[in-house]
Amino acid sequence: MAVQHNAGELSFYQSVEYYFDKAAAVTKYPEGLLNQIKACNSVYQMRFPVKIGNNFQVIEAYRVQHSHHRLPCKGGIRYSEFVDQDEVMALASLMTYKCAIVDVPFGGAKGGIKINPRQYSVSQLQRITRRYTTELIRKNFIGPALDVPAPDYGTGAREMAWILDTYQTFKSDEIDSYGCVTGKPISQGGVRGRVEATGLGVFYGTREAVSVKEDMKALKLSTGIEGKTVVVQGLGNVGYHSANFFQKSGARLIGLAEYEGAIYDPTGKGLDLDSVVRHREETGSILNFPGAVNLAKNTDALELECDILIPAALERVIHMGNAAKIKAKIIAEAANGPITPEAENILLSKGIMILPDVYLNAGGVTVSYFEWLKNLSHVRFGRMDKRFHEASYSNMLRVMEGLTNKKVKEEDRDRVVKGAEEVDLVHSGLEDTMIAAYMPIRDNWKRNKKIEDLRTAAFYVAIDKVATAYMELGIFP
Ligand code: GLU
Repeated sequence: MAVQHNAGELSFYQSVEYYFDKAAAVTKYPEGLLNQIKACNSVYQMRFPVKIGNNFQVIEAYRVQHSHHRLPCKGGIRYSEFVDQDEVMALASLMTYKCAIVDVPFGGAKGGIKINPRQYSVSQLQRITRRYTTELIRKNFIGPALDVPAPDYGTGAREMAWILDTYQTFKSDEIDSYGCVTGKPISQGGVRGRVEATGLGVFYGTREAVSVKEDMKALKLSTGIEGKTVVVQGLGNVGYHSANFFQKSGARLIGLAEYEGAIYDPTGKGLDLDSVVRHREETGSILNFPGAVNLAKNTDALELECDILIPAALERVIHMGNAAKIKAKIIAEAANGPITPEAENILLSKGIMILPDVYLNAGGVTVSYFEWLKNLSHVRFGRMDKRFHEASYSNMLRVMEGLTNKKVKEEDRDRVVKGAEEVDLVHSGLEDTMIAAYMPIRDNWKRNKKIEDLRTAAFYVAIDKVATAYMELGIFP
């Protein structure tokens, strides 16, 4: 899925600056402070050689720390042929606002390596990742107190394990070294629930938005996820898990798009996600799924009529060229920056509700925060109290049974006395975070006449939190 660069449209980084300025204009903060919040604090552009086959390839890579107002900085590392400085600066900026919105106490950062990972073997990818990590260590751009990478487009737990191992090779006496990167495999200090976290956050956030009667009425929709028609563009980690949670809650997946093409369900009943994924594994393509209709281009899926459209791949897929053709009622931004500002104006004028990336896909970094906490505390969540709670609930039940002279059914007993495992706590913390973050954004949108949409409201909330941190530091009295 190529990144769109339409002539006449702002670049990705310019778009983030545009959204920032739009929201900043509504705040009362002094210009100097706003400029400091907006600027990328450190930009590290690097070139390093890696032996690929018989030749040395010069690899282009980046790490951008957008904000040092809280440390460590935090944000993923992406492997994609479209990586450039503009993109990484845009993504790093979004991370600062994202963290602020969900009260994750980090500054934003992002990294990128300009490669198409499909064109490299696993051992070549490992060499590139280790060399990149070494470059970060050399410049003090990684560490549990400094800057903590995570997965993003084109990377996953495997790459995070390589980063950790490289870091520990150089910093063998650092007791908190496991906290130098998140999204790791469980055996390497990862936390249960991180893999599905962004998708689950997209689900919780959308569920919150569609629970507001007044807003759904304006879109001529009923409240709730059940029965809603959903189109998901991109079935990578974020898209797959988003689709899965929507389907499990009774939504109908009527359109799915992947790299090679898109399919839709003419019956409107919904495609079974896991059958589609199995079909893709077996045939190498999402196309020709039994009962589904093939679409010529993967981006055609964006134009399907549906209640909720979930772009879950790369940025700028909805642009001036296709915005007028979008028929969704709600766009849930699972990807970072999937809509250009020019397209957004068209979509908003059509009355489409846009749930912005800076809020909606913050589930990933939220659970990364939990993973980092786990690494610093050196203990699995639930280890100390699971059995204690089970014993307390059990005692409580026994007393109640004694008082009422009634026995609780065995299957109910198991549910009631269950102490929380790590994954239960992670999901619960994520759910609470996504619910708590939505209403302040919506309230600003509804109450402040100068704020016309949810994205501006989300940026407004973020700017307010970062500005408060700077003011209370005493830098900008
Ligand atoms: N790459 C993810 C994002 O864009 C996760 C970042 C993190 O967990 O630090 O939000």
